Order: sequence, then C-alpha cells, then structure tokens
Amino acid sequence: MARRTAVIGAGPAGCYAAHLLQQQGREVVLYEQAKSVGGRTTSWHDQGWVVDSGAGFFTNFYPTLWGLITKLGLESEITNLSRSNALTDGEKVADFTLGSTASFANFTFLGTRAKLSMAMQTALIFAKYRHLDLSSAASLAPFDDASVRDDAVKRVGERAYQYLVRPGIEPFWFFSCESISRSLMLALQAKAATARFYTFRQGMNFVCTRLAAHLDVRTGITVDQIKPSGAKFKITGATLADGPEHTYDEVIVATTGSVAAKITAGLDERIVPDTVRSFLKSQTYVPNTHLVFVIDKGVKLPKMSCLLPCGPKDHRVAGLNFNSHKLQTRGEARSGQEAISVYLTAEESKATLDMSERDLYTHAWRLARELSPDLPLRAEPLQMIQRREAIPIHAVGRYRAAAEVGKQQKGPLVFAGDYLSTATVDGAMRTGYEAAHALDQRVAI
Ligand SMILES: Cc1cc2nc3c(=O)[nH]c(=O)nc-3n(C[C@H](O)[C@H](O)[C@H](O)COP(=O)(O)OP(=O)(O)OC[C@H]3O[C@@H](n4cnc5c(N)ncnc54)[C@H](O)[C@@H]3O)c2cc1C
Repeated sequence: MARRTAVIGAGPAGCYAAHLLQQQGREVVLYEQAKSVGGRTTSWHDQGWVVDSGAGFFTNFYPTLWGLITKLGLESEITNLSRSNALTDGEKVADFTLGSTASFANFTFLGTRAKLSMAMQTALIFAKYRHLDLSSAASLAPFDDASVRDDAVKRVGERAYQYLVRPGIEPFWFFSCESISRSLMLALQAKAATARFYTFRQGMNFVCTRLAAHLDVRTGITVDQIKPSGAKFKITGATLADGPEHTYDEVIVATTGSVAAKITAGLDERIVPDTVRSFLKSQTYVPNTHLVFVIDKGVKLPKMSCLLPCGPKDHRVAGLNFNSHKLQTRGEARSGQEAISVYLTAEESKATLDMSERDLYTHAWRLARELSPDLPLRAEPLQMIQRREAIPIHAVGRYRAAAEVGKQQKGPLVFAGDYLSTATVDGAMRTGYEAAHALDQRVAI
C-alpha cells in the first residue's frame, strides 16, 4: 500500500517536495493555510497588471528550478528581465547594469581605484568561489565565518561596500549586511558578471500553481499541531475533522522555522532531535511591507527596472521596482501607465506594522518620492502586503548549522523551507528536494 504523506505549506519548498513524493508513488496531501498556493511567490493579477507580491525573478544560477523547468518543458513560460538598475544616494542617480563592463566603468559613485579593486576582487572571487551553490547550505558552510560587512570592507574598502555590495544585497533580502554571512556575498559575487534574470510570464507563482495542479491540495487550512498517533501522525487544525483522513505515515513541514517549531512542539526527541528543534527555534525573520501604486506616465521616469538606494545613510525604502518592463515581456504592455512597487526596509516595515492601510499608502508614497523626486504627487494604490516573517536572517553560522540539520534529517518527519538554505525560490526548492529524499532514511518510532 502506498505510504500516506502530508506536506504542510504550499510554497516552493512544499510544492516541490509534494511533487517529488507523488512521483515516487506516495499518496500525498498538501495543506496550505492561504486560499491559494505559492507562499512568498504569490502574484497579484489585478486590473491587467501581473505583480509579484514576493519573489519577482530567478537567475541562471538556480539549478533546482532550471532542472524542473527542463523536466516539465516550461521554457516557453519564461521571459528575460532587464538587468538595468539605477542606484541613488538620495541626491545623484547612477545607472548600473549588472554584467555590463561599460556600465561599471561609468559608475559615478566610485573612483578609479575603488573600481579597480572591486574588479580585481570580483575576478579573484570568480576564480576561487564559482563552484559555490547559493542554494546549498552544505556548499556555503565552509565560508560561513564572518559577516558580509567585515569581509567586504576588508576586500574592497568602505566606499565600494556602501555603494555596490550593500545595494546588491539589502534591497533584495531586507536584512542588514552587518549581521549576515559572507557566504551569501561570495556566492553572489562569483556569479555577478554572468548573471541573467528571468521571470514567468504568468507571475512567479507559476511554478507552484503548475506543480499543485497535479496534487491533492487542501487550501484554507491552518495546521495547528502534528500529534503522534501510534506509529503515525495526526494533523490537527481548527477546520479539520478528527478522523483517520488526516492521519499519515510521514510528514514534511514546509513552513517558516517559527511555525515549524510551534506545530511540532508535541513530538518527542526521536522525531525532532534537540539540535533540529533548537535550530528551528533560533530562526528569526525580518519583516517586509510591499505596496504597489499605479501612476500615469506623464512624468519623466528613469529607464530602469529598479531604483535602489546606496551609500552609508539609513534608508527607509529598500527599493522601487518598475513593473511595466515585466508586463512588456509578458506581452501585455499597458501604455501610459506604470505600476511601481515600493518595498520598505525591515526597520520601516516594523515601525509601520500597525499603521492603517490608508495611512501606510500615503506614507510609503511620500518615502518613494523622497527617493525619486520625479515621481508624481499622486498615485493610485493597487495592492499591499505586510509580511511579519518575510526573510529568514542569514546570520553568521546559520549555513553551518543548517548543513548539520540537513545531515540529521530523517523520516518519518522532516523539515523544508528557505531558512535551511538561502531565501530564494531555488533555495526553498532545494530543501524540498532534500526533505523528500530524507524521508526514506527513517528512524523507528
Ligand atoms: C518581498 C520578497 C521578495 C523576494 N524576492 C525574491 C526573488 O526575486 N527571487 C527569489 O528567488 N526569491 C525571492 N524571495 C524569497 C522567496 O520568495 C522565498 O525564499 C521562498 O518563497 C520560500 O519558500 P518556502 O516554501 O520556504 O516558504 P513560503 O513561500 O513562505 O511557503 C510556506 C507556505 O506555508 C504556508 N503555511 C504557513 N504556516 C502554515 C500552517 N500552519 N498550516 C498550513 N500552511 C502554512 C504559508 O501560507 C506558505 O504558503 C523574496 C521574498 C520576499 C518576501
């Protein structure tokens, strides 16, 4: 008889794990608290716009995702994204196209010496670290011994750190380079010159919706507890009936670390070893607020895909994303309008968590105009999301600890999620892959 497996959480980690397990012949049920699958890759489809609420792109160095794209023949669903960004210190704006030597040579925030030092370091890092897999904690663990800030300042100096390294990391992950592992920067810098960016025509949740289309998914169900039931597990939740239907041989928990710790609190040390439990409990996240506004394009707008702050000042906006460049590649260009995503920094997101929706829209648009004064006075609010747990903090030592947890994971209950890897779609999927394989190494209960 097929083993019955429950997967909790239908983000990229859970959807991919459920897909793999079903392919292996298991009877899989995927529980998701939201109304739809996708987790932090969920996209909004509103008034003809397709805007990603969380993850907005993937790269050429996402091996697990590319494996799936090839396996499922999804190439025609992909579209290239522009690499032209601009950086601003609040006064001047400089174009910065990733991978373009000309753009780097003309980058006005750095002098010739700083550019030479940055170019040499990038070449050295490429030579030494190009084998690093951003999605694999085991690959990154050996270099997880210092913060991005300490390592970068030593390698390229304070100015290049403030004007290139910080804007290359903080607007995408919202955490501070001062507290996170240099492994992340080494893996990114080694790939920077050859990086390519892509998205899915139908939005970044396309992968999850595609995988879920062939799965038994129960949406709108919040799992409260996973309880032992003989040699099996019972899934409980306010909206779940108490019956054999929700009893399983195995479970993959693919939520954030804090939720994973909470819903497995009643399981003993044989199922969740103490080291794994303390790792789950130690995971902390930065919040993020993302607001989308529609404006008429009557104003002069920079020709770029995003505008990112740079320099040593504290920033309140993590970045502005101009969404029409995505729409154009998706073949649905809306003339005369632009949808602008405003991402607040972690500190600003935290400070405004209790603000009313209306005040938050007004406040965020004012901050966006401080960063880019050419934006018009008025903008029409389109969508907004506040995530209290947006990105797990990649603290120094966390990749090493995650790699150890990876080795200890054994069925019948294992964990998946980006907190065990790097917070990317590929990182999350990689943990889904590892969790699905770890289920086969079972401990007796
Ligand atoms: C603003 C933002 C921008 C980002 N940009 C990018 C990007 O451009 N590129 C990139 O690769 N990555 C990006 N990321 C990161 C990426 O989205 C995440 O790393 C990835 O989605 C994590 O996948 P996951 O499956 O681990 O978790 P999630 O996507 O969070 O999925 C977990 C799922 O579990 C569900 N769940 C939680 N608790 C329960 C419960 N008790 N019962 C049932 N279900 C539950 C949740 O509703 C959720 O659907 C971004 C993230 C954010 C927030």
